[in-house]
Amino acid sequence: MSSMVGTGAGQAGSAEGDWMMPPLSVLLKRELTSEKIGKPDILHGLASRSKKGEDLTFLKTECQRVPGNGATTFSVFALFDGHNGLAAAIYAKENLLNNILCAIPSGLTRDDWLAALPRALVAGFVKTDKDFQDKAEPSGTTVTFVIIDGWAVTVASVGDSRCILESADGSLYLLSADHRLDENKEEVERVTASGGEVGRLYLACGAEIGPLRCWPGGLCLSRSIGDVDVGEFIIPIPHVKQVKLSNAGGRLIISSDGVWDALTFESALNCSRGHPADIAANKIVKEAVHVKGLRDDTTCIVVDLLPPENISPFVSQPKKKGMRVLKNMFHKKPYDLPSHLLVRNYFGPYAVEELFEDGSAVLAQRLNMVYPICNMFKLLVCAVCQVEMKPGEGISVHAGSLKSGIVCLWEGPLLCQSCQFKKEAMEGKRPSRNLCRKLDGNEYY
Ligand SMILES: [Zn+2]
Repeated sequence: MSSMVGTGAGQAGSAEGDWMMPPLSVLLKRELTSEKIGKPDILHGLASRSKKGEDLTFLKTECQRVPGNGATTFSVFALFDGHNGLAAAIYAKENLLNNILCAIPSGLTRDDWLAALPRALVAGFVKTDKDFQDKAEPSGTTVTFVIIDGWAVTVASVGDSRCILESADGSLYLLSADHRLDENKEEVERVTASGGEVGRLYLACGAEIGPLRCWPGGLCLSRSIGDVDVGEFIIPIPHVKQVKLSNAGGRLIISSDGVWDALTFESALNCSRGHPADIAANKIVKEAVHVKGLRDDTTCIVVDLLPPENISPFVSQPKKKGMRVLKNMFHKKPYDLPSHLLVRNYFGPYAVEELFEDGSAVLAQRLNMVYPICNMFKLLVCAVCQVEMKPGEGISVHAGSLKSGIVCLWEGPLLCQSCQFKKEAMEGKRPSRNLCRKLDGNEYY
Protein backbone atom coordinates (compact mmCIF):
# COMPACT_ATOMS: atom_id res chain seq x y z
CA MET A 1 0.00 0.00 0.00
CA SER A 2 2.73 2.48 0.88
CA SER A 3 4.59 1.71 -2.34
CA MET A 4 1.44 2.49 -4.37
CA VAL A 5 1.19 5.88 -2.71
CA GLY A 6 4.86 6.57 -3.31
CA THR A 7 4.66 5.66 -6.99
CA GLY A 8 1.54 7.71 -7.58
CA ALA A 9 2.97 10.80 -5.93
CA GLY A 10 6.18 10.51 -7.91
CA GLN A 11 4.42 10.21 -11.26
CA ALA A 12 2.09 13.10 -10.58
CA GLY A 13 4.93 15.25 -9.33
CA SER A 14 7.02 14.80 -12.44
CA ALA A 15 4.16 15.07 -14.95
CA GLU A 16 1.84 17.70 -13.60
CA GLY A 17 3.54 19.49 -10.77
CA ASP A 18 3.47 18.89 -7.04
CA TRP A 19 0.56 21.26 -6.42
CA MET A 20 -1.81 18.72 -8.02
CA MET A 21 -1.17 16.10 -5.36
CA PRO A 22 -2.72 16.11 -1.91
CA PRO A 23 -0.14 15.76 0.85
CA LEU A 24 1.08 12.22 1.52
CA SER A 25 -0.66 12.19 4.91
CA VAL A 26 -4.01 12.83 3.20
CA LEU A 27 -3.39 10.06 0.69
CA LEU A 28 -2.43 7.65 3.44
CA LYS A 29 -5.53 8.56 5.39
CA ARG A 30 -7.68 7.92 2.31
CA GLU A 31 -6.01 4.56 1.81
CA LEU A 32 -6.60 3.61 5.41
CA THR A 33 -10.21 4.77 5.25
CA SER A 34 -10.97 2.79 2.10
CA GLU A 35 -9.30 -0.29 3.65
CA LYS A 36 -11.36 0.28 6.76
CA ILE A 37 -14.62 0.36 4.82
CA GLY A 38 -13.66 -2.90 3.18
CA LYS A 39 -12.92 -4.63 6.46
CA PRO A 40 -15.09 -6.02 9.23
CA ASP A 41 -14.76 -5.02 12.85
CA ILE A 42 -13.50 -8.13 14.59
CA LEU A 43 -14.52 -8.81 18.17
CA HIS A 44 -13.43 -11.99 19.88
CA GLY A 45 -13.80 -13.83 23.15
CA LEU A 46 -12.03 -16.79 24.72
CA ALA A 47 -13.13 -19.16 27.46
CA SER A 48 -11.48 -22.32 28.74
CA ARG A 49 -11.86 -24.89 31.50
CA SER A 50 -8.79 -26.98 32.07
CA LYS A 51 -8.71 -30.67 32.94
CA LYS A 52 -5.27 -31.71 31.69
CA GLY A 53 -3.89 -28.26 30.87
CA GLU A 54 -3.11 -29.23 27.27
CA ASP A 55 -5.28 -26.74 25.34
CA LEU A 56 -3.35 -23.65 24.21
CA THR A 57 -4.58 -20.68 22.19
CA PHE A 58 -2.91 -18.03 20.09
CA LEU A 59 -4.85 -14.84 19.41
CA LYS A 60 -3.24 -12.01 17.48
CA THR A 61 -5.29 -9.28 15.87
CA GLU A 62 -2.55 -6.94 14.68
CA CYS A 63 -0.50 -9.04 12.24
CA GLN A 64 0.65 -7.20 9.11
CA ARG A 65 1.03 -8.54 5.57
CA VAL A 66 3.46 -5.72 4.87
CA PRO A 67 5.50 -5.06 8.02
CA GLY A 68 5.07 -1.48 9.18
CA ASN A 69 1.94 -0.88 7.10
CA GLY A 70 -1.10 -0.69 9.36
CA ALA A 71 -3.45 -0.92 6.36
CA THR A 72 -2.41 -4.52 5.77
CA THR A 73 -3.55 -5.86 9.11
CA PHE A 74 -4.90 -9.39 9.46
CA SER A 75 -5.90 -11.51 12.47
CA VAL A 76 -4.96 -14.98 13.63
CA PHE A 77 -6.96 -17.16 15.99
CA ALA A 78 -5.49 -20.59 16.70
CA LEU A 79 -6.28 -23.47 19.01
CA PHE A 80 -3.83 -26.24 19.89
CA ASP A 81 -5.12 -29.30 21.76
CA GLY A 82 -2.04 -31.16 22.96
CA HIS A 83 -1.74 -34.81 23.92
CA ASN A 84 0.92 -36.82 25.69
CA GLY A 85 2.43 -33.62 27.06
CA LEU A 86 2.47 -29.93 26.19
CA ALA A 87 5.72 -29.64 24.24
CA ALA A 88 4.25 -29.97 20.72
CA ALA A 89 1.43 -27.51 21.45
CA ILE A 90 3.89 -24.96 22.86
CA TYR A 91 6.25 -25.42 19.93
CA ALA A 92 3.45 -25.01 17.38
CA LYS A 93 2.07 -21.97 19.16
CA GLU A 94 5.49 -20.31 19.10
CA ASN A 95 6.58 -21.21 15.57
CA LEU A 96 3.72 -22.05 13.26
CA LEU A 97 2.66 -18.53 12.23
CA ASN A 98 6.22 -17.55 11.42
CA ASN A 99 6.77 -20.74 9.39
CA ILE A 100 3.60 -20.04 7.40
CA LEU A 101 4.50 -16.40 6.72
CA CYS A 102 8.04 -17.35 5.67
CA ALA A 103 6.51 -19.52 2.95
CA ILE A 104 4.75 -16.52 1.36
CA PRO A 105 6.87 -14.43 -0.98
CA SER A 106 7.08 -10.76 -0.10
CA GLY A 107 5.65 -8.00 -2.26
CA LEU A 108 2.38 -9.71 -3.14
CA THR A 109 -0.89 -7.86 -3.58
CA ARG A 110 -3.62 -8.70 -1.09
CA ASP A 111 -5.40 -11.02 -3.55
CA ASP A 112 -2.19 -12.83 -4.42
CA TRP A 113 -1.31 -13.12 -0.72
CA LEU A 114 -4.68 -14.76 -0.06
CA ALA A 115 -4.19 -17.10 -3.03
CA ALA A 116 -0.74 -18.06 -1.72
CA LEU A 117 -2.01 -18.84 1.79
CA PRO A 118 -3.26 -22.43 1.23
CA ARG A 119 0.11 -23.62 -0.03
CA ALA A 120 1.99 -21.63 2.62
CA LEU A 121 -0.17 -23.22 5.32
CA VAL A 122 0.79 -26.69 4.08
CA ALA A 123 4.49 -25.75 4.01
CA GLY A 124 4.29 -24.12 7.46
CA PHE A 125 2.52 -27.08 9.07
CA VAL A 126 4.97 -29.61 7.60
CA LYS A 127 8.03 -27.54 8.54
CA THR A 128 6.76 -27.05 12.10
CA ASP A 129 6.10 -30.78 12.48
CA LYS A 130 9.49 -31.71 11.02
CA ASP A 131 11.40 -29.23 13.19
CA PHE A 132 9.59 -30.38 16.32
CA GLN A 133 10.21 -34.03 15.51
CA ASP A 134 13.93 -33.23 15.17
CA LYS A 135 13.87 -32.49 18.89
CA ALA A 136 12.76 -36.10 19.46
CA GLU A 137 10.41 -35.13 22.28
CA PRO A 138 7.19 -37.07 22.66
CA SER A 139 3.80 -35.32 22.48
CA GLY A 140 1.61 -34.07 19.69
CA THR A 141 -1.05 -31.48 19.09
CA THR A 142 -4.11 -30.79 16.99
CA VAL A 143 -4.15 -27.40 15.31
CA THR A 144 -7.05 -25.27 14.15
CA PHE A 145 -5.51 -22.17 12.59
CA VAL A 146 -7.76 -19.33 11.43
CA ILE A 147 -6.52 -16.33 9.44
CA ILE A 148 -8.94 -13.45 8.85
CA ASP A 149 -8.03 -10.83 6.27
CA GLY A 150 -10.87 -8.49 5.43
CA TRP A 151 -13.91 -10.68 4.83
CA ALA A 152 -11.78 -13.67 3.81
CA VAL A 153 -11.48 -16.44 6.38
CA THR A 154 -8.89 -19.18 5.88
CA VAL A 155 -8.90 -22.21 8.17
CA ALA A 156 -6.18 -24.88 8.29
CA SER A 157 -6.78 -27.87 10.53
CA VAL A 158 -5.26 -31.14 11.69
CA GLY A 159 -6.92 -33.24 14.37
CA ASP A 160 -10.37 -33.03 15.86
CA SER A 161 -10.89 -29.48 17.06
CA ARG A 162 -13.45 -27.80 14.86
CA CYS A 163 -14.25 -24.39 13.44
CA ILE A 164 -17.78 -23.52 12.38
CA LEU A 165 -19.19 -20.42 10.76
CA GLU A 166 -22.69 -19.04 11.02
CA SER A 167 -23.33 -16.56 8.22
CA ALA A 168 -25.71 -13.63 8.24
CA ASP A 169 -28.49 -15.64 6.57
CA GLY A 170 -28.32 -18.27 9.30
CA SER A 171 -26.45 -20.89 7.25
CA LEU A 172 -23.97 -23.07 9.07
CA TYR A 173 -20.61 -24.04 7.60
CA LEU A 174 -17.98 -26.46 8.86
CA LEU A 175 -14.62 -24.93 7.99
CA SER A 176 -12.35 -27.62 9.47
CA ALA A 177 -11.93 -31.34 8.83
CA ASP A 178 -12.33 -34.15 11.32
CA HIS A 179 -9.22 -36.30 11.46
CA ARG A 180 -10.51 -38.74 14.06
CA LEU A 181 -9.97 -42.26 12.76
CA ASP A 182 -13.45 -43.14 14.01
CA GLU A 183 -14.99 -40.44 11.82
CA ASN A 184 -12.89 -40.61 8.70
CA LYS A 185 -12.80 -43.77 6.61
CA GLU A 186 -10.63 -42.20 3.93
CA GLU A 187 -7.95 -41.49 6.52
CA VAL A 188 -8.13 -45.04 7.92
CA GLU A 189 -7.41 -46.30 4.41
CA ARG A 190 -4.51 -43.88 3.98
CA VAL A 191 -2.90 -44.76 7.32
CA THR A 192 -3.26 -48.48 6.65
CA ALA A 193 -1.80 -48.13 3.14
CA SER A 194 1.16 -46.21 4.60
CA GLY A 195 2.07 -48.94 7.07
CA GLY A 196 0.05 -48.11 10.19
CA GLU A 197 -2.37 -50.49 11.84
CA VAL A 198 -5.79 -49.24 12.81
CA GLY A 199 -7.86 -50.99 15.46
CA ARG A 200 -9.41 -50.72 18.89
CA LEU A 201 -7.98 -51.74 22.24
CA TYR A 202 -8.48 -55.40 23.09
CA LEU A 203 -9.50 -56.51 26.54
CA ALA A 204 -8.18 -59.80 27.92
CA CYS A 205 -11.56 -61.37 27.17
CA GLY A 206 -11.14 -60.47 23.51
CA ALA A 207 -13.70 -57.65 23.46
CA GLU A 208 -12.81 -54.41 21.69
CA ILE A 209 -13.24 -51.09 23.47
CA GLY A 210 -12.81 -47.39 22.79
CA PRO A 211 -12.29 -45.48 19.57
CA LEU A 212 -10.30 -46.61 16.56
CA ARG A 213 -6.62 -46.01 17.18
CA CYS A 214 -3.49 -46.12 15.09
CA TRP A 215 -0.80 -48.58 16.17
CA PRO A 216 1.95 -48.35 17.22
CA GLY A 217 1.25 -45.45 19.54
CA GLY A 218 -2.48 -45.75 20.01
CA LEU A 219 -3.36 -42.27 18.73
CA CYS A 220 -6.99 -41.87 17.70
CA LEU A 221 -6.17 -39.07 15.23
CA SER A 222 -4.80 -39.47 11.71
CA ARG A 223 -3.22 -36.02 11.48
CA SER A 224 -1.39 -33.89 14.02
CA ILE A 225 1.81 -31.95 14.60
CA GLY A 226 4.44 -33.88 16.57
CA ASP A 227 3.84 -37.50 17.59
CA VAL A 228 7.31 -38.60 16.58
CA ASP A 229 6.78 -41.86 18.47
CA VAL A 230 3.61 -42.78 16.62
CA GLY A 231 4.76 -43.01 13.02
CA GLU A 232 4.99 -40.51 10.21
CA PHE A 233 1.82 -41.75 8.54
CA ILE A 234 0.22 -39.51 11.16
CA ILE A 235 0.80 -36.46 8.99
CA PRO A 236 0.75 -32.70 9.58
CA ILE A 237 -0.71 -31.79 6.16
CA PRO A 238 -3.73 -29.65 7.02
CA HIS A 239 -7.16 -29.53 5.53
CA VAL A 240 -7.47 -25.96 4.24
CA LYS A 241 -10.65 -24.10 3.50
CA GLN A 242 -10.93 -20.47 2.46
CA VAL A 243 -14.22 -18.59 2.28
CA LYS A 244 -15.32 -15.00 1.83
CA LEU A 245 -18.16 -13.64 3.92
CA SER A 246 -20.58 -11.00 2.73
CA ASN A 247 -20.24 -7.64 4.47
CA ALA A 248 -23.24 -8.60 6.60
CA GLY A 249 -20.74 -10.55 8.69
CA GLY A 250 -20.77 -13.82 10.57
CA ARG A 251 -19.74 -15.65 13.75
CA LEU A 252 -16.93 -18.20 14.01
CA ILE A 253 -16.75 -20.74 16.82
CA ILE A 254 -13.42 -22.50 17.24
CA SER A 255 -13.51 -25.18 19.94
CA SER A 256 -11.62 -28.21 21.16
CA ASP A 257 -13.23 -31.65 21.36
CA GLY A 258 -14.15 -30.94 24.98
CA VAL A 259 -16.90 -28.72 23.56
CA TRP A 260 -17.85 -30.77 20.49
CA ASP A 261 -18.08 -34.05 22.41
CA ALA A 262 -20.78 -32.39 24.52
CA LEU A 263 -22.57 -30.00 22.15
CA THR A 264 -23.91 -30.09 18.61
CA PHE A 265 -23.09 -27.16 16.36
CA GLU A 266 -26.68 -25.96 16.73
CA SER A 267 -26.67 -26.07 20.51
CA ALA A 268 -23.36 -24.18 20.70
CA LEU A 269 -24.78 -21.44 18.49
CA ASN A 270 -28.11 -21.38 20.25
CA CYS A 271 -26.78 -21.15 23.80
CA SER A 272 -24.63 -18.15 22.86
CA ARG A 273 -26.88 -16.33 20.43
CA GLY A 274 -27.35 -12.61 20.97
CA HIS A 275 -24.38 -12.31 23.31
CA PRO A 276 -21.14 -10.50 22.57
CA ALA A 277 -18.20 -12.74 21.66
CA ASP A 278 -16.60 -12.90 25.13
CA ILE A 279 -19.83 -13.81 26.89
CA ALA A 280 -20.74 -16.21 24.05
CA ALA A 281 -17.47 -18.14 24.53
CA ASN A 282 -18.15 -18.41 28.26
CA LYS A 283 -21.71 -19.61 27.68
CA ILE A 284 -20.55 -22.33 25.27
CA VAL A 285 -17.89 -23.68 27.65
CA LYS A 286 -20.30 -23.53 30.58
CA GLU A 287 -22.96 -25.38 28.59
CA ALA A 288 -20.49 -28.08 27.48
CA VAL A 289 -19.34 -28.68 31.05
CA HIS A 290 -22.95 -28.66 32.22
CA VAL A 291 -23.86 -31.38 29.69
CA LYS A 292 -20.89 -33.74 30.09
CA GLY A 293 -19.02 -32.57 33.17
CA LEU A 294 -15.39 -31.45 32.95
CA ARG A 295 -13.98 -34.60 31.33
CA ASP A 296 -11.46 -32.98 29.02
CA ASP A 297 -9.87 -29.61 28.36
CA THR A 298 -12.73 -27.48 27.08
CA THR A 299 -11.80 -24.36 25.12
CA CYS A 300 -13.82 -22.02 22.94
CA ILE A 301 -12.88 -18.99 20.84
CA VAL A 302 -15.75 -16.94 19.42
CA VAL A 303 -14.96 -14.43 16.68
CA ASP A 304 -17.56 -12.01 15.35
CA LEU A 305 -16.97 -10.35 11.98
CA LEU A 306 -19.20 -7.30 12.07
CA PRO A 307 -19.98 -4.59 9.54
CA PRO A 308 -17.79 -1.61 10.53
CA GLU A 309 -19.14 0.51 13.37
CA ASN A 310 -21.70 -2.15 14.31
CA ILE A 311 -21.27 -2.56 18.03
CA SER A 312 -24.03 -5.13 18.57
CA PRO A 313 -23.18 -8.81 18.81
CA PHE A 314 -23.52 -10.78 15.60
CA VAL A 315 -27.03 -12.18 15.18
CA SER A 316 -27.96 -14.15 12.08
CA GLN A 317 -31.27 -13.97 10.24
CA PRO A 318 -33.34 -16.86 11.57
CA LYS A 319 -33.87 -19.64 9.03
CA LYS A 320 -37.27 -21.16 8.57
CA LYS A 321 -37.73 -24.13 10.85
CA GLY A 322 -36.37 -27.30 9.33
CA MET A 323 -34.62 -25.38 6.56
CA ARG A 324 -31.29 -25.04 8.24
CA VAL A 325 -28.56 -27.11 6.66
CA LEU A 326 -24.96 -27.76 7.44
CA LYS A 327 -23.02 -26.66 4.41
CA ASN A 328 -19.88 -28.51 5.26
CA MET A 329 -18.58 -29.41 1.85
CA PHE A 330 -20.13 -26.82 -0.47
CA HIS A 331 -19.69 -28.57 -3.79
CA LYS A 332 -17.54 -31.67 -3.68
CA LYS A 333 -14.96 -31.21 -6.36
CA PRO A 334 -11.94 -33.00 -7.69
CA TYR A 335 -8.78 -31.94 -5.92
CA ASP A 336 -6.74 -31.57 -9.07
CA LEU A 337 -8.48 -28.46 -10.32
CA PRO A 338 -6.39 -25.31 -9.97
CA SER A 339 -8.10 -23.06 -7.49
CA HIS A 340 -8.46 -20.13 -9.87
CA LEU A 341 -10.41 -22.28 -12.32
CA LEU A 342 -13.10 -23.25 -9.85
CA VAL A 343 -16.51 -21.81 -10.37
CA ARG A 344 -17.34 -19.45 -7.56
CA ASN A 345 -20.71 -19.63 -5.95
CA TYR A 346 -22.91 -16.61 -5.48
CA PHE A 347 -26.27 -17.25 -3.92
CA GLY A 348 -27.43 -13.85 -2.75
CA PRO A 349 -26.45 -10.87 -0.68
CA TYR A 350 -25.56 -12.86 2.46
CA ALA A 351 -23.96 -15.81 0.70
CA VAL A 352 -20.63 -17.18 1.76
CA GLU A 353 -18.38 -17.59 -1.23
CA GLU A 354 -15.98 -20.52 -1.32
CA LEU A 355 -12.54 -19.51 -2.52
CA PHE A 356 -10.61 -22.74 -1.88
CA GLU A 357 -10.80 -26.17 -0.28
CA ASP A 358 -8.34 -29.05 -0.26
CA GLY A 359 -7.86 -31.78 2.32
CA SER A 360 -5.67 -34.14 0.31
CA ALA A 361 -2.88 -35.95 2.14
CA VAL A 362 -0.64 -35.94 -0.95
CA LEU A 363 2.11 -33.37 -0.43
CA ALA A 364 3.01 -33.18 -4.13
CA GLN A 365 -0.56 -32.19 -4.93
CA ARG A 366 -0.77 -29.64 -2.15
CA LEU A 367 2.44 -27.89 -3.14
CA ASN A 368 1.76 -28.05 -6.86
CA MET A 369 -1.24 -25.81 -7.12
CA VAL A 370 -1.30 -23.63 -10.19
CA TYR A 371 -1.88 -20.10 -9.06
CA PRO A 372 -2.83 -17.28 -11.36
CA ILE A 373 0.51 -15.97 -10.16
CA CYS A 374 2.43 -19.11 -10.96
CA ASN A 375 5.84 -17.52 -11.01
CA MET A 376 5.76 -16.08 -7.55
CA PHE A 377 7.53 -18.93 -5.81
CA LYS A 378 11.27 -18.98 -5.99
CA LEU A 379 12.55 -21.91 -8.02
CA LEU A 380 15.63 -22.72 -5.98
CA VAL A 381 14.08 -22.69 -2.55
CA CYS A 382 12.70 -25.78 -0.81
CA ALA A 383 8.91 -25.55 -1.02
CA VAL A 384 8.57 -26.76 2.59
CA CYS A 385 11.43 -25.40 4.71
CA GLN A 386 12.43 -22.50 2.40
CA VAL A 387 16.13 -23.36 2.53
CA GLU A 388 18.01 -22.10 -0.52
CA MET A 389 19.46 -24.77 -2.80
CA LYS A 390 22.07 -24.80 -5.50
CA PRO A 391 21.01 -25.56 -9.09
CA GLY A 392 20.58 -29.33 -9.48
CA GLU A 393 20.35 -29.90 -5.73
CA GLY A 394 16.57 -29.81 -5.36
CA ILE A 395 14.37 -32.85 -5.78
CA SER A 396 11.08 -32.57 -7.61
CA VAL A 397 8.12 -32.93 -5.31
CA HIS A 398 6.84 -35.41 -7.90
CA ALA A 399 9.86 -37.68 -7.69
CA GLY A 400 9.04 -41.17 -6.47
CA SER A 401 12.43 -41.79 -4.93
CA LEU A 402 15.82 -40.20 -4.52
CA LYS A 403 17.30 -42.31 -7.33
CA SER A 404 15.07 -40.78 -9.95
CA GLY A 405 14.81 -37.53 -8.09
CA ILE A 406 17.39 -35.24 -9.62
CA VAL A 407 15.43 -33.42 -12.26
CA CYS A 408 15.20 -30.21 -14.17
CA LEU A 409 13.81 -27.04 -12.67
CA TRP A 410 10.54 -27.13 -14.57
CA GLU A 411 9.51 -30.24 -12.66
CA GLY A 412 9.26 -28.21 -9.50
CA PRO A 413 8.29 -27.25 -6.94
CA LEU A 414 11.44 -28.65 -5.41
CA LEU A 415 12.25 -30.07 -2.00
CA CYS A 416 15.57 -30.22 -0.20
CA GLN A 417 16.84 -33.72 0.61
CA SER A 418 15.69 -33.51 4.21
CA CYS A 419 12.14 -32.55 3.24
CA GLN A 420 12.12 -35.25 0.56
CA PHE A 421 12.92 -37.79 3.34
CA LYS A 422 10.01 -36.38 5.32
CA LYS A 423 7.69 -36.71 2.32
CA GLU A 424 8.68 -40.34 1.75
CA ALA A 425 8.23 -41.16 5.44
CA MET A 426 4.74 -39.62 5.41
CA GLU A 427 3.87 -41.78 2.41
CA GLY A 428 5.11 -44.92 4.17
CA LYS A 429 8.02 -45.32 1.73
CA ARG A 430 10.63 -44.87 4.46
CA PRO A 431 10.54 -46.06 8.07
CA SER A 432 9.46 -43.44 10.58
CA ARG A 433 12.28 -42.15 12.71
CA ASN A 434 12.47 -42.68 16.45
CA LEU A 435 9.73 -45.27 16.29
CA CYS A 436 11.24 -47.26 19.10
CA ARG A 437 9.09 -46.71 22.14
CA LYS A 438 7.17 -49.81 23.11
CA LEU A 439 3.56 -49.60 24.06
CA ASP A 440 3.17 -50.89 27.59
CA GLY A 441 -0.60 -50.85 27.79
CA ASN A 442 -0.76 -47.48 29.52
CA GLU A 443 0.85 -45.25 26.99
CA TYR A 444 -2.00 -44.80 24.58
CA TYR A 445 -3.69 -41.42 24.35
ZN1 LIG B 1 13.34 -28.47 2.93
